Amino acid sequence: MRIVDIRETAIPLRSQIRNSGFDFSEMTTSVVAVITDVIRNGKPITGYSFNSTGRYACGATMRDRFIPRIMTAPPDKLLNDAGTNFEPAKILSCMMQREKSGGHSERSIPIGTIEVAVWDAVAKIEDKPLHRLLAERYNGGKITDKVFCYVGGGWYIPGGTVKDLLDEMKRHLDDGYTMLKMKVGGMSLADDVKRVNAVKDMLPKGAQLAVDANSKFTRDEALAYARALAPFKLRWYEEPCDPLDFASLAEIASVYPEPLSTGENLFSTQDVENLVRFGGLRPKGRDVIQIDPPQAYGIVQYGRTVDMLARHGWPRGALFPHGGNLMSLAIAGGFGLGGAESYPGVFGPFAGYADDAKVENGYLKLSDRPGIGFEAQAALYKIMRELSS
Ligand code: MG
Repeated sequence: MRIVDIRETAIPLRSQIRNSGFDFSEMTTSVVAVITDVIRNGKPITGYSFNSTGRYACGATMRDRFIPRIMTAPPDKLLNDAGTNFEPAKILSCMMQREKSGGHSERSIPIGTIEVAVWDAVAKIEDKPLHRLLAERYNGGKITDKVFCYVGGGWYIPGGTVKDLLDEMKRHLDDGYTMLKMKVGGMSLADDVKRVNAVKDMLPKGAQLAVDANSKFTRDEALAYARALAPFKLRWYEEPCDPLDFASLAEIASVYPEPLSTGENLFSTQDVENLVRFGGLRPKGRDVIQIDPPQAYGIVQYGRTVDMLARHGWPRGALFPHGGNLMSLAIAGGFGLGGAESYPGVFGPFAGYADDAKVENGYLKLSDRPGIGFEAQAALYKIMRELSS
């Protein structure tokens, strides 16, 4: 059993939306295919992934270092002990050869993207959905059939009005979501408060609202927003300051009584450990951590991060992986996390779930398709199939 080829291609997202800090007009993503010599139904089993959203395509480092390391390794060194399947932990170690410590994001994204594609192949070889395989390996076999899922919406769209925002948020509620998230920090504090107020007023009883500042604020701005947002009792206030400014985050946490969230821009277990040691976050029933596994060395390393967080008292319910795609959905279901997010209609083929996926009362049903299940997301699978054929 061996990996026959690993292919990657960069695809533009072609999105005009903005968060508080930047627009997505140049955004690209790397799509990866890991082609194996295992034949099923007359075709080689192939694992697919992409490098989630918000980080640019990273094919150069894949081509220069990580793909050649896997392709030149003795094939049996990449298999499990029984030789019956690929072993993602060994493939991760293989990619990490001759890599210096620290400086994570230069390699954590290409490595994580390839690693997640390996998991897709591993689950297909076992003929199981990835969420079930992960539940067996990482969650004591507790298999779930649904995952809580909220919408990451409320983007700044050129010319967009408060009415447009409310129309968008109503659509999400009509689609079955019970928790919505919107951007802040792209306008003045007064204008953003008007937007938040308008959405909060429109929400039915029991529905929740979160806001995302995308790391835009200085310490003083983040504290001003914290004071202004506190009365809204939001589900969370996301990335109020620079993702690595743990001192400011701790200060914000000391004055903001509601939940904070962060972590999508941390790429290593050590960075996340520093966050929970020094960021002033409170694990029990309050703050939320949002690491994006394909951008942070993949699923094996995510499991190590979850273990580290458990040692610091963090329950899995406080973890919501960033991404809004089938990879983070399978990981949220498999590890038994708090939930996943969704970006309906925002990032072209790279947003959303299976074409037949339905949100009911805030929950997405998990499918029984083997692997991650990209095959049921037609526009995305077309790109993946072209890459592997
Ligand atoms: Mg965010």
